[in-house]
Parts: sequence; C-alpha cells; structure tokens
Amino acid sequence: MNCLRCVLALAMWLAFSLMPPVHAQIVNPPLTKPVDARAINPLTTSATQYKIDVWQTEQGLPLNTVQAMYQSRTGYLWVGTAGGLARFDGIRFTTFESSAVPELVSGPIFGFMEDVEGNLWIGHRRGAARYRNGRFEPAFDNELLQGKRVWAFAQGRDGVVWAASENGLLRWEKDKGVTKIYKEADGLPTNRLRTLDFDKDGTLWIGTTGGGLISFASEKFSVMNPTNGFPHLEVRHVLADPAGGVWAATAGAGLVHVALGQTKSYGVVDGLPTDQLTYLARDKAGSLWIGTWGAGVSRMSDGKFSTISSSGGLTGDQIWAVHVDREGSAWVGTWNGGLNRVSSRPFGVFGKPEGLSSDNVRSVIHTRDGATWVAMAGGGVNRIGEGRITPVTKKEGLATDEASSLLEDRDGSIWIGTYTEGVARLKLGKLEKFGIARGIPNVDVRVVFQDRAGIVWAGTHAGLARFNGHDFVPVRDAGAPLEVITTIFEDRSGVLWIGTAGQGLVRYRNGVFETLTRKEGLVSNWILALYEDAAGTLWIGSNGEGMNRLKNGRIAGIRTADGLWDGIAQVIIEDKTGYLWMTCNRGFFRVPRAELDAFADGKIARVTSAGFGPGHSLRSSTFAGGLQPAGAIDGKGHLWLPSLKGLVIVDPQQLPGSDDPPPVMVEDVSVNGVSGPPEAEIILPPGSVPLSIRYTAGTLLNADRVRFRYQLDGITQKWVEAGKSREASFPALPHGAYQFRVAATIDGKRWQEASGPLSITVKPHYYQTPWFAALAVFASLAAAAALFRLRTHRLHQRHDEMERIVAEKTEALRLANEHLSQLSFVDALTGLANRRRLDETLDTEWRRACRMQTSIAIVIADIDAFKAYNDTLGHPEGDKCLVAVAEVIRQAAGRAGDFAARYGGEEFFILIPGLDHAAAIAYADKLRQACEAQAIPHPASPVGPVVTISLGVAACVPSEKAQVATLIAEADSALYRAKKEGRNRVC
Ligand code: GH3
Ligand code: MG
Ligand code: MG
Repeated sequence: MNCLRCVLALAMWLAFSLMPPVHAQIVNPPLTKPVDARAINPLTTSATQYKIDVWQTEQGLPLNTVQAMYQSRTGYLWVGTAGGLARFDGIRFTTFESSAVPELVSGPIFGFMEDVEGNLWIGHRRGAARYRNGRFEPAFDNELLQGKRVWAFAQGRDGVVWAASENGLLRWEKDKGVTKIYKEADGLPTNRLRTLDFDKDGTLWIGTTGGGLISFASEKFSVMNPTNGFPHLEVRHVLADPAGGVWAATAGAGLVHVALGQTKSYGVVDGLPTDQLTYLARDKAGSLWIGTWGAGVSRMSDGKFSTISSSGGLTGDQIWAVHVDREGSAWVGTWNGGLNRVSSRPFGVFGKPEGLSSDNVRSVIHTRDGATWVAMAGGGVNRIGEGRITPVTKKEGLATDEASSLLEDRDGSIWIGTYTEGVARLKLGKLEKFGIARGIPNVDVRVVFQDRAGIVWAGTHAGLARFNGHDFVPVRDAGAPLEVITTIFEDRSGVLWIGTAGQGLVRYRNGVFETLTRKEGLVSNWILALYEDAAGTLWIGSNGEGMNRLKNGRIAGIRTADGLWDGIAQVIIEDKTGYLWMTCNRGFFRVPRAELDAFADGKIARVTSAGFGPGHSLRSSTFAGGLQPAGAIDGKGHLWLPSLKGLVIVDPQQLPGSDDPPPVMVEDVSVNGVSGPPEAEIILPPGSVPLSIRYTAGTLLNADRVRFRYQLDGITQKWVEAGKSREASFPALPHGAYQFRVAATIDGKRWQEASGPLSITVKPHYYQTPWFAALAVFASLAAAAALFRLRTHRLHQRHDEMERIVAEKTEALRLANEHLSQLSFVDALTGLANRRRLDETLDTEWRRACRMQTSIAIVIADIDAFKAYNDTLGHPEGDKCLVAVAEVIRQAAGRAGDFAARYGGEEFFILIPGLDHAAAIAYADKLRQACEAQAIPHPASPVGPVVTISLGVAACVPSEKAQVATLIAEADSALYRAKKEGRNRVC
C-alpha cells in the first residue's frame, strides 16, 4: 500500500514538474543527470572501486618491464623485471648488484617459487638461482640448459622441484641436484615449456609454447592440443583448480578449464576482453585474476568477468604476470608500464565527482521508494534513485542551497531543514517554505522529526516548533529547550528526547519537559546523537566527552579513557552484527554494543573500538554532526555517513584489515659503508666506524602508514621515534657492547618488535682494554720500585736504562688516558670534537699564537634553514644531514693543526692556526662550496634545492690584552651578516 503511494507520489511529482506552474512554489522541471548506474551504489560495483598504485623506474624499479612477482613468507614482494631482480617492501626496492649470481644482476627474470623450506627459486634467462637469508646460489648446474631460460617451478608433495625451461623439464632432488631432464625424446611435444602446476590429485600440468597442454603422471606425458579437444597450442600459464583439474590461459583461445578429460572454454563471448591471455592468479575469495595481452586484467568471480585496463588506471594493457599477495592486493606486471597494485577500496565514497551537487554532505535518508536523499551545505538536496541524480536546489525553487536536515514524512513528503531559510516541504512536486512568518522560531534548522502521532517537529537554533498541519508553532511550554537543538528522538514508550548543544538532554513525557545534565550523570551537556537499541536502552553521543547509556533509569558514561576511539559521537547507528558505529572529526569508529553494555554494567574495564580515518582512502575524515540524521543504514546493512567530501558508504562485512602492528625485520647492516645481511652478532673494529642499520615492516598494503622506533641498549635507554625512516645510523659508536631493537606500529598504540635484538660489539683499541690499563699501572709501579732501589744503590749504569723504561710506560699510559678522555670530548652524533674539547683547544691555541705572535683564524658555519629541513624531512633525516655536513668539514679541516668541532645544534666551529684573514675567507668559501657540492636535497630551503651553509670568519694575531671571546664574537656577527645577506655565503 505504502509502496503504491510512493510510486504514485513519484509519478505525480514527475507529472507536476512537466505541467505549467499553477502555484508559485512549484519546483522547476528537475534537471536529471544520468549517472553511471554502477556509481550509484559504489559497493555493488567491482572495477570502479579499485585503487591502483603504480611503481616505475622513478620509484626504484630496475625496469618498467615486469615479468614476474612473488610474495615470499617474509612479506617481501620479489619483482622480476627484464632488467634484473628487485625486492620490494612496499616503500623501497632493493636491487642485488653485488649478487653472487651474475645472471641476476641485469638479466631478465621470468619466474619465482618458494619451496617448503623457504628457499626462493628464481628463473632467469640462462637457468635458475636459489635465494636464502641474503645469499644467492645457482639452483643447479646451469650448463644443463645450454643457455636457455627457466620460466617456472613447481614442488611436488615429495619435495621434488620441477622446472619448466626452454630446454625441457628438469627434475631436481635435494642433495642430488638435477636427476633427469625430460625432452622431446621422452615424449614431450616440444622442449619449449612455459608453465607448470600440480593439481590437487598430484598430476603435473605443463603448458608449452607450440605444443599445447600436457599432463604428467606416473612418468607418462599426455598431450592435449587442437587435435584432441584442447583449443590452442600456446599455453601461457596453468593454475591448479582447488576443486580439481586445472585452468589454462592460452595465447589465442581464452581461458580453458580441464578436469577429468573434460574441457570448458571461456572467451570474448563470455565476457573476457580478449582471447589472448598471459597469466592466472587466485585471490582469497576464490576469484581468478587473468592477465591478458592487450586488454588489462580481468577478474572472474561466479562465472562473470570484470576487467580493469588502462582506461581504469592501469599503466598498461599488456600484462606479463599477476600475483595476489596475502593482504589481497593483486600485483600486475606490465610490459612497459611498470608495476601496478590493484587493491579494493575499503569504503565507497560518493561525492561531487560521482555527480552530487556538492561534496559537503550533511545528512542522508533512505526513503521507502528505495531512493536516497542527500542534503548538502552549498548543494541543496539531491535525490538518488532509478539510476539518476535529481537535484532539488535553489534553481529548482529551494530558498537556499544550505541544506542541513532531511525527513521522510509518513505521507511521502520530504521535509528539508536549512541553515538559513527555515524548513521546506516537498510534497507531490510542490515546494512549500516555512520561515519565521510561519512559526519557525529561528531560520537555522538542524532537525526535522516526525513522532509516532504523526506530528512534525522542527529543532532550531532557538528551540522547538511543532507543525499543526498548516504552520509551525513555537514550543514555549515551561522547561522546553530554547536554544540550539541537535537531535530529536522518540523512544518506544513514546517519550520524546531532545538533544541540545550545551543545555543537556531534554525529556518530554506526558506533556512535561525535564532536563538531564552532567549533574544527573551525562558525560556532557552537549548532545549530538541518540539511539535506542532493541533492548530499549538509550545510547547518547556527545560532542567530545564520550557516550552515555541510559538503561532502567540509570545513566552510565563511557569515555575515551575507557576505550572509545574518539570522544565525539555525531551519530549512533547499529549494524546487523551488533556493533554501534559513530562518526567524529577524524573518521568513524565502531564498538561492540555488548562490550558497551558490559562496561556500563561494570563487568569489563575497557571497551575495544576500531577506528577508520586517515589512511583508509577516505577523501576527508571530517564527518557531519549536530544535525539530523547524520548518517543512515540501508536495507543491505550498509552505512551511509555524510562527510566533508562526499558520502562514505561502509559495508560492515567488508572492512579493511586490522591495524595490527606488522612484523619487523632488520634487512641490512652497513659497517663503514659496506653492507650485508644482518649476522647474529655484528663486530665492529676499533675506532669510530660508522654503522647503519636498515629495517623494514612486513606489510605491503599499509607500508606507508607504518611508523618505527628503535633503541640501542648501551646508548639510548628510551625508544627513539624514527617515524617513517627505515634506517638507523650511528656515526661513531664508542667501544662496548650494544643491543639494537626496532619496533613498528600502524595505529601508534600497538607495537611489534623484531624478534631478537641485534648484538653489536665495537672492539676496543688495545690501549682501551682493562688489562692494558692494569698492566700499565703495574709496570709503572714496578718501575718506580726499581728506580728507588737503583737510586739507593747508585747503580748508575742501570739507572739510565730504567728511566727510559719508566718514560716509555708513562707515555703509553698518558696516551691511553688521552684517548679515553677524547671519547668524552667527541660529539656523539657527528664524531667531531664537542664543545668542551673546543673550549680547551681554543685556549691552548690562543695562548700558543700569542706566544708565537702568529695569526689564528676561526670559522663558524651554520646550516641554512635547518629547522625547515627537520620540519619537512623529519628529525632522523636532519641528523643524517648533520653527519654529512660534519663529514665535509672534517675533510676540509684535514691539515694537521686544523681543528673542527660541533659548536652546537647545526653550527660548526673550525680553528685554523696560522691563517690570516684573507686566507681564512678563501678557506671558508671552499668549505661552503664543498657543502653545496654534496647536493643533499633540501626541499624547503629558501636558498636553493640543496643543503647549504653560511659562514662567519674572523682572524687576528692575538695580543696579551685581546681576548679569545672577542674573536668569537666577531665571527659570530659575521655569520649573522651572512645570514642576513641571503645565506650560502661567507662574511
Ligand atoms: P638559518 O638559516 O637562519 O640558520 O635557519 P635555521 O632554521 O637553520 O636556524 P634555527 O636556529 O631556527 O634552527 C636550527 C634548527 O636546528 C632547530 C633545531 O631543531 C635543529 N637542530 C639542532 N640540533 C639538532 C640535532 O642534533 N639534530 C637535528 N636533526 N636537528 C637539530
Ligand atoms: Mg643556528
Ligand atoms: Mg641554521
């Protein structure tokens, strides 16, 4: 009945809109924009809601021809290109230049397989290699292949590895190597094999170039080709069907399924974009991903194909290979467009690009006729239905495009609340306005609500109004709210609840208004959302302080400290699986209602909530609130959440993966610039040898959301926040033993540490060892004793001898002490002298110059715009920059007698005895040039694209009266001038 009425209403509305105006407020003929029907419900679409990421040579890929991909159990994606091998962690590519297998360095890679022991098999143009724990080795004697390539591998249940090569089928056994090569003489139709896979019954299926499809069981090859029912001779890829049999991708006859001698083909007529296929992969849902030559990738699920090609964002339509990783993304290797990742968007977004009048969506309702109505700030109202978007805006007669609120009346009318013009009703194609003149107490309306008695209420910025059938009447009864109304709700017992922005929650029962506030236990007087669950419990959302539960007259509060993801709840919607969903200013979140109940009942100490926001491919994480309804659920259980940039549509059944912290691993340790895989213990030679440690996280999908921290026990007791940086550098570790730990997080709360810390030992110099010190002390004591004896016995001839020994030992001891004290005079980051050492040296050098009446020059260098450097690239990068600049200075101050120190922060001090003023200026300018020549990119410098320094110079021949402080002040003000005059200069 209702339905019929709606259809009638709609028909009449359309009819009315075509008739000449009979009323001043008739809607103009609605402009309807046909939209892509698939876009109407983004969740039902397939291809359009994919997100495509691209990596090419600019991002570190060796070559844009990507021929093979494989995610190993460590989480890395191995990428085989026509220009060599790379390993990808979601952020950076690692190439293997110094590999022990020369074929891998720059040659094309064709296929991968990881065996049960975790060895990665790599097929290349002249054979195969095996990789394990940072080491490559030839997989077998490559001479056997006579220079031919290996395309693919498969491992049988017995552990035997089979390789498909251009020179036959290889059988490899552990500890024995290749035990047989099957060729044409053994029954193969051709030696040119391309692909192979074991089916669930243990039959090995082999695809060939020119010889059709082969099955191999009990040492017997059976060939299938066009003469016996298999449609093509070129088989590019085979993939076992978990249900039995095999799928084959042919280079001209589409997709073929073979099982128990039956073949079934799928081609263009069935929805494939082409019959030229190259590759097959299967995702978790069991869908088949099909690489094509010339038409992108197609996905087959439930017998239907949908295709993603260059028109949908792929960087190429010639597909070499497809690999589905453990996080469900499909990696697509293209012929010359690099590497593509196709991942499904976790949420649908429907905004201006999809056809809405405005992106700033405020409220949304689903009407009984199956349509969706959307109110927008600046865009009026849009009706989405029957595959089109119908605007109801100023152009169509709405008083304003600032729409805030929506209500479907029982009679099928649509009520529209606005920010500036009161309320409008769209009834049978007629728009009627209700402003101040018609009883609306304030033009700023945020809520229009109909109670069960059929009465329509308006909640405004100055209280309530009730509709009497013709006009609104302000509600001015005692206790009625007079200020901003944010939400109105009627519970099952017929009590009306009115939320206000600061005046608490008003209850309207039996004609009486009463107000509940914080005094009664509300977490806040600023109410944003109300929801009654099936048990009759009222849930209350606030503007920042958390939520309340009102049950059996008792009010309980739940706050962020109790586990809520955010304190704001602008809407409360319950999904079909018992979660409450709330929106806020940084996304939206859900909490199991049962947990909220258990918490409110004191049974648990915390609730667990999962939040979605930045990083979840939303266009904005700010959601609408303070109006009604700030969200809706449709018949399919999908949530529609109005955001600043479109409606976000959430299928609670298809949420993105959790934000569990990913596994972390140290991938590379570089000592003095020479890098290698991490060993169980890293031993560094004595002295200040630079050490840097690269680590990574085992997630490809969330790679750019991962944050790291590390700790070096023995140096830092606390964690060092490394942000996105995947490298820790220690330019000058003093001798000792250290433990390096690294951990990663996605949500910033839960951290996962790499298994087992890395042990680092920096060996001492011989004179830094305790035994040496003890020996030296012992020796001097013994020497002194001997000396005493000698003196007393006046044994002159031995006296000289002993004196020499004592002098020697004392000198050794002095050296040892000097080195030890030098350690505490060294700046830990840069390895240059520190401030303390500088002060001492300055003092001695000054006095020396004074004595000798020679010149002394000082240079103070300061990195330009270093704060901006830190701000844009992060503090760890800043540290690296400091180390690099320090190195330039160290090199320049290489002359004996020159002395360089870190003066503080990003300032350096160079002391050059003997240099006069002009020479010092030239010296400083060399420094400046050397720094610029390092070409360390500085994206935020006002000076230029690279890191530069400004330098202040001062020189003099010291006199008795002059003070070193004056010289420093001079250099300092010169530096100040250099800065003022534009930086990257010497003054
Ligand atoms: P100017 O060109 O005028 O010198 O500008 P500036 O930004 O370089 O100068 P400012 O003195 O405003 O900022 C110096 C910055 O150096 C601020 C501080 O964060 C940074 N800094 C100081 N010590 C360190 C350090 O040890 N590591 C890192 N990464 N940054 C440091
Ligand atoms: Mg400074
Ligand atoms: Mg500076």
